[in-house]
Amino acid sequence: MLVNNDNSVAPMTQSKPLLSESLTGEQISELDAKHVWHPYSSFNSPLLPFPVESTEGVRIRLKDGRELIDGMASWWSAVHGYGHPVLKQAAHDQIETMSHVMFGGLTHEPAVTLCEKLVKLSPDGLNKVFICDSGSVSVEVAMKMAFQYALSQGNRERNKLLTVRSGYHGDTFATMATCDPVNGMHHMFENILPKHIFAEAPPCKFEEAFSESHIQDLKDKLVQHQQEVAAIILEPIVQGAGGMRFYSPDYLKRVRELCDEYDVLLIADEIATGFGRTGKMFACEHAGITPDILCVGKALTGGFMSLAATLCTDKVAKGICEGEAGVFMHGPTFMANPLACSVANASLDLLMSGEWQQQVANIESGLKIGLGPAKALSQVEDVRVLGAIGVIELHEPVDMPTVQPQFVQEGVWVRPFGRLVYVLPPFVIENEDLAHLTKAMVSVVSRL
Ligand SMILES: *Cc1c(COP(=O)(O)O)cnc(C)c1O
Repeated sequence: MLVNNDNSVAPMTQSKPLLSESLTGEQISELDAKHVWHPYSSFNSPLLPFPVESTEGVRIRLKDGRELIDGMASWWSAVHGYGHPVLKQAAHDQIETMSHVMFGGLTHEPAVTLCEKLVKLSPDGLNKVFICDSGSVSVEVAMKMAFQYALSQGNRERNKLLTVRSGYHGDTFATMATCDPVNGMHHMFENILPKHIFAEAPPCKFEEAFSESHIQDLKDKLVQHQQEVAAIILEPIVQGAGGMRFYSPDYLKRVRELCDEYDVLLIADEIATGFGRTGKMFACEHAGITPDILCVGKALTGGFMSLAATLCTDKVAKGICEGEAGVFMHGPTFMANPLACSVANASLDLLMSGEWQQQVANIESGLKIGLGPAKALSQVEDVRVLGAIGVIELHEPVDMPTVQPQFVQEGVWVRPFGRLVYVLPPFVIENEDLAHLTKAMVSVVSRL
């Protein structure tokens, strides 16, 4: 019962239930349509989202009782599947001791062990860790590190970033300004966004032989703008939301060399690629390089909750701290949330047991076999697989209102964008489920 301000008791109304556990699927949908923003959603022509009852393993169970095989790992994050007992236990244990405490002037075991693990797992030389709340923030932190480093070195004019087209680095304003200028949001926010420098997207595919001409444009831009550029920022090996493109490790190797040659920092955004997704713990390992600054997020807690981190080398840390400010100028309220750090520790422990390597290799061959038949379809421009990432690129963008229910009808959760129908399943997916998933993709695509 509701108590009004005047202490009278309001009658319970059937139309306004307050406890979500008492809501039916229809009631959830109704409230959702009334009040709730979803990613890139409209209230004027809403695409009704499917109400979810629960998740477990690689299954998403809808309110209407249907079960879907998850192909998205909730946007690259749920690598161990949903509700993994080890992650649940870590959360339960931590919540009993301390769910959150401020990180200014205080520290705790979950944070320091997490930072130690990240240093151990990441490419050699990254020794300092800034823990933050989400991927976009970790990229903002990386950018601020690069700019503050330039300032502390007396390079005030180094106030730009150099990046490649088809990239994606987040939805906040600073990160948006480095996303692909065409499929990103540059046009709409042209007058607000800072102008950075864009080279062409890495033109050589993952297996393709690299030649120096492939990096000429980036090199030219670097030479031309050397005095203005604080850092090159890119996603190593796999460009995610900007186009799901896989490029040559030799290209990345050359980027590292050019950064050294022209004394510019390298920021590797591994928010999507980190923690095994491409077949290596970090995609930088394909090229055997260490960036100066590394962003991680998404799978950091195994998809359990939001957490991200920005790592940097001692050189960058020292450079920042010997500058005018004397400190790194950033500090989110929920920095290093102990609950999230504990779950991240548990997730990294699971990864460190090493099982993911066989799982990802297995998914890679399953995706190659399962998606292969799509190559012959006239709707399809390209089919590509790397690690636990499978992509069908179409000639035309998909019509989401038509296609989304078809996937659900097929018993799978696949969420395409634009011309890309892609999957990044949890590493724990079984062969049979993977075969179901790829078959559904080929089947839906063939009907387009
Ligand atoms: C998802 C993503 C981000 C942004 O992370 P959020 O947690 O959504 O803010 C940044 N960079 C890359 C490469 C990503 O895939």
